[in-house]
Amino acid sequence: MVYLVGAGPGDPELLTLKAVRLLAGADIVLHDDLVPAAVLAHAKRSLIVNVGKRCGRKNISQEQINAMLVDYARRGLLVVRLKSGDPLVFGRAGEEMDALRAAGIAFEVVPGITAAFAAAAALQRPLTDRRSASSIRLFAGRHAPGSAREPGIRGASPSDATRVIYMPGRDLRTVAAALRREGLPPDLPCVIVSRAAQPDQLIVRTTLAQLDRVAGGPAPSILLVGEVLRDSDSATAVEDVLGHAAVTDESQPKPMKL
Ligand code: SAH
Repeated sequence: MVYLVGAGPGDPELLTLKAVRLLAGADIVLHDDLVPAAVLAHAKRSLIVNVGKRCGRKNISQEQINAMLVDYARRGLLVVRLKSGDPLVFGRAGEEMDALRAAGIAFEVVPGITAAFAAAAALQRPLTDRRSASSIRLFAGRHAPGSAREPGIRGASPSDATRVIYMPGRDLRTVAAALRREGLPPDLPCVIVSRAAQPDQLIVRTTLAQLDRVAGGPAPSILLVGEVLRDSDSATAVEDVLGHAAVTDESQPKPMKL
Protein backbone atom coordinates (compact mmCIF):
# COMPACT_ATOMS: atom_id res chain seq x y z
CA MET A 1 0.00 0.00 0.00
CA VAL A 2 1.21 3.49 -0.84
CA TYR A 3 0.03 6.65 0.88
CA LEU A 4 0.57 9.99 -0.83
CA VAL A 5 0.67 12.22 2.21
CA GLY A 6 0.67 16.00 2.53
CA ALA A 7 3.32 17.25 4.93
CA GLY A 8 1.90 20.78 5.12
CA PRO A 9 4.04 23.90 4.87
CA GLY A 10 6.69 22.91 7.39
CA ASP A 11 5.27 23.42 10.88
CA PRO A 12 4.89 19.88 12.31
CA GLU A 13 1.77 21.00 14.19
CA LEU A 14 0.10 21.53 10.83
CA LEU A 15 0.33 17.84 9.95
CA THR A 16 -2.95 15.93 10.00
CA LEU A 17 -3.43 13.25 12.64
CA LYS A 18 -3.58 10.77 9.80
CA ALA A 19 -0.23 11.90 8.44
CA VAL A 20 1.32 11.50 11.89
CA ARG A 21 -0.16 8.01 12.26
CA LEU A 22 1.03 6.91 8.83
CA LEU A 23 4.51 8.31 9.37
CA ALA A 24 4.76 6.44 12.67
CA GLY A 25 3.81 3.16 11.00
CA ALA A 26 5.60 3.50 7.65
CA ASP A 27 8.30 1.06 6.60
CA ILE A 28 9.71 3.57 4.15
CA VAL A 29 9.19 7.31 3.64
CA LEU A 30 10.11 8.88 0.31
CA HIS A 31 10.09 12.64 0.76
CA ASP A 32 10.78 15.86 -1.10
CA ASP A 33 13.43 18.42 -0.17
CA LEU A 34 10.92 20.86 1.26
CA VAL A 35 9.89 18.52 4.08
CA PRO A 36 11.78 19.63 7.22
CA ALA A 37 13.43 17.37 9.80
CA ALA A 38 10.80 18.24 12.42
CA VAL A 39 8.15 16.57 10.24
CA LEU A 40 10.34 13.58 9.39
CA ALA A 41 10.91 13.08 13.11
CA HIS A 42 7.47 11.45 13.24
CA ALA A 43 8.79 8.57 11.13
CA LYS A 44 10.67 6.90 13.96
CA ARG A 45 10.89 3.35 12.63
CA SER A 46 10.99 4.01 8.88
CA LEU A 47 13.73 4.06 6.33
CA ILE A 48 13.77 7.70 5.17
CA VAL A 49 14.79 8.51 1.61
CA ASN A 50 15.10 12.02 0.19
CA VAL A 51 13.98 11.83 -3.41
CA GLY A 52 13.98 15.61 -3.84
CA LYS A 53 15.34 16.94 -7.06
CA ARG A 54 17.25 19.82 -5.54
CA CYS A 55 20.39 19.87 -3.41
CA GLY A 56 22.63 17.99 -5.83
CA ARG A 57 20.20 15.11 -6.27
CA LYS A 58 19.08 16.07 -9.72
CA ASN A 59 19.88 12.58 -10.89
CA ILE A 60 16.72 11.12 -9.34
CA SER A 61 14.19 11.28 -12.16
CA GLN A 62 10.44 11.20 -11.77
CA GLU A 63 10.47 7.78 -13.47
CA GLN A 64 12.87 6.47 -10.84
CA ILE A 65 10.64 7.74 -8.06
CA ASN A 66 7.62 6.08 -9.70
CA ALA A 67 9.59 2.83 -9.99
CA MET A 68 10.68 3.01 -6.33
CA LEU A 69 7.07 3.43 -5.19
CA VAL A 70 5.98 0.40 -7.21
CA ASP A 71 8.96 -1.69 -6.19
CA TYR A 72 8.68 -1.06 -2.44
CA ALA A 73 4.92 -1.59 -2.46
CA ARG A 74 5.37 -4.92 -4.29
CA ARG A 75 7.71 -6.03 -1.54
CA GLY A 76 4.78 -5.64 0.85
CA LEU A 77 6.13 -2.52 2.57
CA LEU A 78 3.95 0.28 3.89
CA VAL A 79 5.17 3.18 1.75
CA VAL A 80 4.58 6.85 2.54
CA ARG A 81 5.25 9.28 -0.30
CA LEU A 82 5.53 12.51 1.67
CA LYS A 83 5.09 15.75 -0.24
CA SER A 84 5.21 19.30 1.03
CA GLY A 85 1.91 21.10 1.38
CA ASP A 86 -0.91 19.20 -0.26
CA PRO A 87 0.21 16.23 -2.35
CA LEU A 88 -2.10 17.12 -5.23
CA VAL A 89 -0.98 20.73 -5.67
CA PHE A 90 2.00 21.11 -8.06
CA GLY A 91 3.52 17.93 -6.75
CA ARG A 92 3.66 15.56 -9.73
CA ALA A 93 1.31 13.26 -7.87
CA GLY A 94 -0.57 12.64 -11.11
CA GLU A 95 2.41 10.86 -12.63
CA GLU A 96 3.00 8.83 -9.49
CA MET A 97 -0.65 7.78 -9.25
CA ASP A 98 -0.64 6.81 -12.94
CA ALA A 99 2.38 4.56 -12.31
CA LEU A 100 0.72 2.99 -9.27
CA ARG A 101 -2.53 2.40 -11.16
CA ALA A 102 -0.65 0.85 -14.07
CA ALA A 103 1.10 -1.51 -11.64
CA GLY A 104 -2.19 -2.38 -9.91
CA ILE A 105 -1.02 -1.02 -6.55
CA ALA A 106 -3.58 0.38 -4.13
CA PHE A 107 -2.95 3.88 -2.86
CA GLU A 108 -4.62 6.58 -0.82
CA VAL A 109 -4.18 10.35 -0.82
CA VAL A 110 -3.95 12.19 2.50
CA PRO A 111 -4.42 15.95 2.03
CA GLY A 112 -2.17 18.55 3.60
CA ILE A 113 -2.20 22.31 4.06
CA THR A 114 -0.99 23.87 0.85
CA ALA A 115 1.47 26.78 0.85
CA ALA A 116 -1.16 29.25 -0.40
CA PHE A 117 -3.24 28.77 2.73
CA ALA A 118 -0.23 28.81 5.03
CA ALA A 119 0.71 32.15 3.46
CA ALA A 120 -2.84 33.49 3.85
CA ALA A 121 -2.78 32.51 7.53
CA ALA A 122 0.58 34.25 7.96
CA LEU A 123 -0.87 37.39 6.39
CA GLN A 124 -4.17 37.09 8.26
CA ARG A 125 -6.01 37.67 5.00
CA PRO A 126 -8.94 35.73 3.57
CA LEU A 127 -8.01 35.04 -0.05
CA THR A 128 -11.70 35.12 -0.94
CA ASP A 129 -12.70 38.17 1.06
CA ARG A 130 -16.05 38.86 -0.57
CA ARG A 131 -15.48 42.59 -0.54
CA SER A 132 -12.68 42.35 -3.08
CA ALA A 133 -12.26 38.82 -4.49
CA SER A 134 -14.56 36.22 -5.98
CA SER A 135 -12.05 33.44 -6.62
CA ILE A 136 -8.53 32.14 -6.09
CA ARG A 137 -6.25 30.98 -8.87
CA LEU A 138 -3.17 28.89 -8.26
CA PHE A 139 -0.35 29.15 -10.81
CA ALA A 140 3.05 27.59 -11.29
CA GLY A 141 5.56 30.38 -11.93
CA ARG A 142 8.02 27.91 -13.37
CA HIS A 143 7.58 24.55 -14.96
CA ALA A 144 10.03 21.71 -14.99
CA PRO A 145 12.65 21.92 -17.74
CA GLY A 146 11.38 20.12 -20.81
CA SER A 147 7.78 20.76 -19.92
CA ALA A 148 5.61 21.50 -22.94
CA ARG A 149 4.09 24.50 -21.23
CA GLU A 150 5.73 27.88 -20.95
CA PRO A 151 6.10 29.56 -17.62
CA GLY A 152 3.65 32.35 -17.12
CA ILE A 153 0.49 33.51 -15.54
CA ARG A 154 -1.67 32.96 -18.55
CA GLY A 155 -5.30 32.49 -19.23
CA ALA A 156 -8.22 34.73 -18.62
CA SER A 157 -8.73 35.22 -14.91
CA PRO A 158 -11.45 37.39 -13.50
CA SER A 159 -9.88 40.74 -12.63
CA ASP A 160 -10.91 40.27 -9.02
CA ALA A 161 -9.29 36.83 -8.66
CA THR A 162 -6.64 36.47 -5.99
CA ARG A 163 -3.64 35.01 -7.79
CA VAL A 164 -1.23 32.73 -5.98
CA ILE A 165 1.99 31.89 -7.77
CA TYR A 166 3.89 28.85 -6.59
CA MET A 167 7.57 28.54 -7.55
CA PRO A 168 7.87 32.24 -8.46
CA GLY A 169 11.68 32.00 -8.54
CA ARG A 170 14.08 34.50 -7.05
CA ASP A 171 14.02 36.67 -10.12
CA LEU A 172 10.45 37.90 -10.30
CA ARG A 173 10.78 39.70 -13.64
CA THR A 174 9.15 36.95 -15.72
CA VAL A 175 6.21 36.67 -13.39
CA ALA A 176 5.87 40.46 -13.13
CA ALA A 177 5.86 40.82 -16.92
CA ALA A 178 3.22 38.10 -17.29
CA LEU A 179 0.99 39.79 -14.72
CA ARG A 180 1.40 43.15 -16.43
CA ARG A 181 0.49 41.64 -19.79
CA GLU A 182 -2.87 40.79 -18.28
CA GLY A 183 -3.47 44.49 -17.85
CA LEU A 184 -3.60 44.37 -14.07
CA PRO A 185 -3.22 47.76 -12.34
CA PRO A 186 0.31 48.86 -11.37
CA ASP A 187 -0.74 49.50 -7.77
CA LEU A 188 -2.11 45.98 -7.31
CA PRO A 189 -0.72 44.62 -4.02
CA CYS A 190 1.82 41.78 -4.31
CA VAL A 191 3.14 39.91 -1.28
CA ILE A 192 5.93 37.36 -1.18
CA VAL A 193 5.79 34.96 1.74
CA SER A 194 9.03 33.14 2.20
CA ARG A 195 9.12 29.96 4.34
CA ALA A 196 5.49 30.31 5.42
CA ALA A 197 4.66 28.59 8.73
CA GLN A 198 8.33 28.13 9.53
CA PRO A 199 10.24 29.86 12.33
CA ASP A 200 12.13 32.09 9.88
CA GLN A 201 9.08 33.11 7.87
CA LEU A 202 9.56 36.37 5.96
CA ILE A 203 7.00 38.66 4.34
CA VAL A 204 7.82 41.18 1.62
CA ARG A 205 5.16 43.59 0.40
CA THR A 206 5.20 45.45 -2.85
CA THR A 207 3.03 46.42 -5.80
CA LEU A 208 2.86 45.07 -9.33
CA ALA A 209 4.76 48.13 -10.56
CA GLN A 210 7.67 47.34 -8.25
CA LEU A 211 7.54 43.55 -8.32
CA ASP A 212 10.48 43.03 -10.64
CA ARG A 213 12.75 45.02 -8.32
CA VAL A 214 12.13 42.74 -5.37
CA ALA A 215 14.07 39.56 -4.59
CA GLY A 216 12.01 36.46 -3.89
CA GLY A 217 13.37 35.79 -0.39
CA PRO A 218 14.78 32.52 0.93
CA ALA A 219 13.22 29.42 -0.64
CA PRO A 220 10.59 28.22 -0.61
CA SER A 221 8.60 31.33 -1.29
CA ILE A 222 5.20 32.02 -2.76
CA LEU A 223 3.74 35.13 -4.38
CA LEU A 224 0.22 36.36 -3.69
CA VAL A 225 -1.35 39.05 -5.85
CA GLY A 226 -4.70 40.73 -5.39
CA GLU A 227 -6.87 43.41 -3.86
CA VAL A 228 -7.45 41.26 -0.76
CA LEU A 229 -3.85 42.04 0.19
CA ARG A 230 -4.24 45.80 0.11
CA ASP A 231 -3.21 47.65 3.25
CA SER A 232 -4.83 50.91 4.18
CA ASP A 233 -1.45 52.57 3.67
CA SER A 234 0.01 50.45 0.89
CA ALA A 235 -0.52 52.53 -2.20
CA THR A 236 3.21 53.11 -2.08
CA ALA A 237 6.10 51.16 -3.54
CA VAL A 238 8.20 48.54 -1.83
CA GLU A 239 7.19 48.92 1.76
CA ASP A 240 9.34 46.85 3.97
CA VAL A 241 10.60 43.48 4.89
CA LEU A 242 8.46 42.30 7.75
CA GLY A 243 8.75 39.35 10.06
CA HIS A 244 6.14 37.56 12.17
CA ALA A 245 5.58 40.26 14.74
CA ALA A 246 5.06 43.03 12.26
CA VAL A 247 2.05 41.44 10.60
CA THR A 248 0.01 41.03 13.73
CA ASP A 249 -1.59 44.45 13.48
CA GLU A 250 -3.32 43.51 10.21
CA SER A 251 -6.63 42.57 11.74
CA GLN A 252 -7.94 46.11 11.35
CA PRO A 253 -10.61 46.51 8.68
CA LYS A 254 -9.19 47.71 5.39
CA PRO A 255 -10.83 50.16 3.00
CA MET A 256 -12.45 48.52 0.05
CA LYS A 257 -11.34 49.29 -3.47
CA LEU A 258 -14.30 49.55 -5.81
N1 SAH B 1 2.56 20.63 -2.89
C1 SAH B 1 3.09 21.88 -2.40
C2 SAH B 1 3.66 22.73 -3.53
C3 SAH B 1 4.87 22.09 -4.20
S1 SAH B 1 5.60 23.15 -5.39
C4 SAH B 1 1.98 22.65 -1.65
O1 SAH B 1 0.83 22.26 -1.71
O2 SAH B 1 2.30 23.63 -0.97
C5 SAH B 1 6.83 23.95 -4.40
C6 SAH B 1 6.48 25.40 -4.18
O3 SAH B 1 5.52 25.50 -3.14
C7 SAH B 1 7.62 26.25 -3.72
O4 SAH B 1 8.43 26.68 -4.80
C8 SAH B 1 6.89 27.41 -3.09
O5 SAH B 1 6.39 28.29 -4.08
C9 SAH B 1 5.71 26.71 -2.45
N2 SAH B 1 5.93 26.43 -1.02
C10 SAH B 1 6.00 25.23 -0.43
N3 SAH B 1 6.16 25.34 0.90
C11 SAH B 1 6.20 26.67 1.16
C12 SAH B 1 6.34 27.45 2.34
N4 SAH B 1 6.47 26.89 3.55
N5 SAH B 1 6.34 28.80 2.23
C13 SAH B 1 6.20 29.40 1.03
N6 SAH B 1 6.06 28.72 -0.14
C14 SAH B 1 6.06 27.37 -0.07
